[in-house]
Amino acid sequence: MTTREELQIRMEQERSRVSMIMDKAKGKKLQEIKSGENMVAYVHEDACIGCDQCPTVCDDDAIEMFHKAIKSPLIEVPSNRKARIIRDDCTGCRLCVLVCPTDAISMIER
Ligand code: SF4
Ligand code: SF4
Repeated sequence: MTTREELQIRMEQERSRVSMIMDKAKGKKLQEIKSGENMVAYVHEDACIGCDQCPTVCDDDAIEMFHKAIKSPLIEVPSNRKARIIRDDCTGCRLCVLVCPTDAISMIER
């Protein structure tokens, strides 16, 4: 029977294996996303769930959250928020693209 210590060791090994895979995938994704001063972030509103992660990582304060009314006349959700890029302040660093859990941000040419 597996002991508690063995299980703990196995969990640690799994954790480190998953973390290595995630780091590799992140590095690969980073290489694929264009960045720089000729690029600017763009939010695909329909995919944004208003999680607040992108304004948190943006060092240039180039992302603001705003309230978006839901299309249905029957439901009002006060917390329905979306992210919006302040184009002039965006330096094209692509951090927001990496952090977005729903892939709602792309880098586009200025
Ligand atoms: S690309 Fe960088 S500077 Fe531009 S909005 Fe995203 S995190 Fe901010
Ligand atoms: S990280 Fe993505 S889902 Fe979250 S607020 Fe920003 S754009 Fe929306």
